[in-house]
Parts: sequence; structure tokens; C-alpha cells
Amino acid sequence: MILDGRKTADILNEQLKEKVLRLNRKPRLEIILIGDDPASHTYVNSKLKQASQLGMEVHINHMDESVLEDEVIQLITSFNQNNQVDGILLQLPIPKHLNEVQLMELIDFNKDVDGFHTMNQGLLFQKREGIRPATPKGIMMLLDHYHIPIEGMHVVIIGRSQIVGMPLSKMFIDRNATVTVTHSKTKNLKELTKQADILVAALGKPKFVTKDMVKIGAVVIDVGINRVDNKLVGDVDFDEVAPIASYITPVPKGVGPMTISALAHNLYELYLKGDKNT
Ligand code: NDP
Repeated sequence: MILDGRKTADILNEQLKEKVLRLNRKPRLEIILIGDDPASHTYVNSKLKQASQLGMEVHINHMDESVLEDEVIQLITSFNQNNQVDGILLQLPIPKHLNEVQLMELIDFNKDVDGFHTMNQGLLFQKREGIRPATPKGIMMLLDHYHIPIEGMHVVIIGRSQIVGMPLSKMFIDRNATVTVTHSKTKNLKELTKQADILVAALGKPKFVTKDMVKIGAVVIDVGINRVDNKLVGDVDFDEVAPIASYITPVPKGVGPMTISALAHNLYELYLKGDKNT
């Protein structure tokens, strides 16, 4: 069965839209986009489109590739101080001459819509309330929408990045799953993935997960977005794996739309959190 991220996101977004309509003012997101990376432009535009459709206000602040760090600092600081701004998103990657860690840390964690700030990561790892990174959050929303049991399941995640694999592992642990996180130095990967009740591929290698790596009846979540011959391909060989999986996400229309929906949910949460609206 297909875990339809597009359809699920549409349903959840519709519910969110109703809630947004009842607010005093539109939640506002400021996106900072530096340079001309085509993929980043695509992502930013879909975030803009989605949030606008939900009655949210989104501004894209496009800065030149050669922008000085001080200018970015000034912009972030002004958004931090503006109580009409609920969320700030620095679209990654940013040019090498800019200090990514420092700029991400500068964003007020109460406006950190991506959930990448050290503070929000710390809150996650202490199992406290905070903003969760959008992709892992979107995956949990998708599993919950389809009522897929998580407690007691063995979840195997391929990939340990700070934006997907690591936070996702903690979110599964908090839902009482048993989690194995694998990476490029993992030995006998296939032996581990074959044990997964829920297998998550988040490594960025097209069609990496093949049929022989998957247990019959497993739930397969494909996070990968790879462009091959101008087509989007996931990290899972969908045609091979779909017939043996109980549930599987397609690429596109799987985790992608859920990520964008989770981001909009984060912006809504930030709006509610702010005492600026009371
Ligand atoms: P990163 O490159 O940051 O991390 C990749 C991870 O995969 C690393 O932990 C790496 O291991 C591991 N890895 C790489 N090769 C192998 C291998 N052969 N076997 C096992 N593990 C391996 O990627 P991201 O987490 O940022 O993204 C992963 C994928 O998800 C990409 O395709 C990206 O485009 C996509 N993505 C999709 C999103 C969506 O909304 N659908 C959102 C975010 C990302 P090591 O740590 O040892 O290097």
C-alpha cells in the first residue's frame, strides 16, 4: 500500500488552514535565500506556495552569492527583534565564506521554524517540548495518519544526518520503538536492514535499497531526493521493493510534501508560542 504524502499533506493542511483562519493575524515566515542554487530555489518556492495557500505570510529575502556575513547577521537580527515575525528560515546550503553554524545559532530559537537550532535539538534530546525538524516530523505525521504502529517496532534508519537520521531516531525512541541507526561505516548493512519492521532510507543514493535488503511486510520510508536523468528518484528501488513491502512512500509525493506540511505546522506552533499575539 502506498503511503501517499501528497494526499495526507492535503488533508492535514486543510485542517491547519481552518485553524490559521481563526488567528488574529497571519503567521509570518521570513526565508533567507543566498545565491542561485536551483534546488534551493525550487524548495523555497514550494514552501512559499504552500504557506501562502494556508493563509500564512511568507517573504523570500534573496541575497547575492557574494553577500557579506555582516549583512546576513543584520537581517537575522532585525527579524529576531521584529515581533511580527514568527519564523525565520535560512535555506541551506549557504556559500562557503559564510559561517553556517554561527548564523543558524543567531536565529532566535523561538523563531527557528526548521528546528535546527542547538536549543531545539537539545529540547528534542531531553524529550521536552520544542520545534522538531520538519522532515522527521513529517514522517511521523504520515505514519500516524495511516495508523501504523510504532511502539515495540524495530526501526532501522540508513543515514545519521542532523536534519533527518539523528532527530528521527530520537523521535522513534520517544514513541517506544527500538532503533538502529546506520551510516556509511556500518558493517553488514543488509543484515540490519532485513530486520527492520520500519525501514527509513535517508542517505541520498538513488535506488540504493533493493529487494534483498528488505523484510517481507516491512514499512519502507524513502526520504531520498535524487535527480537522475532529469527525473526525481528516491533512495529505494521502488519497483523492486514495493511488491514485498506492506507500506511504502513514493518519490515524489511521499516524504517531500509531508516535510513542507510539517514546516507550516511548525510556523503555526511558533505563532501560538509567541506572547506577541496575546
Ligand atoms: P547527508 O548527506 O547529510 O547524510 C547522508 C547520510 O547517509 C550520512 O549519515 C551518511 O553516512 C549516510 N550514508 C551515505 N552513504 C551510505 C551508505 N552507502 N550506506 C549507509 N549509509 C550511508 O544527507 P541528508 O540527511 O541531508 O539527506 C539524505 C537524503 O534525503 C538526500 O537525498 C536528500 O536530498 C533527502 N532529503 C529529503 C528531504 C525531503 O523533504 N524529502 C529533506 C531532507 C533531505 P556518514 O554519516 O557516515 O557519512
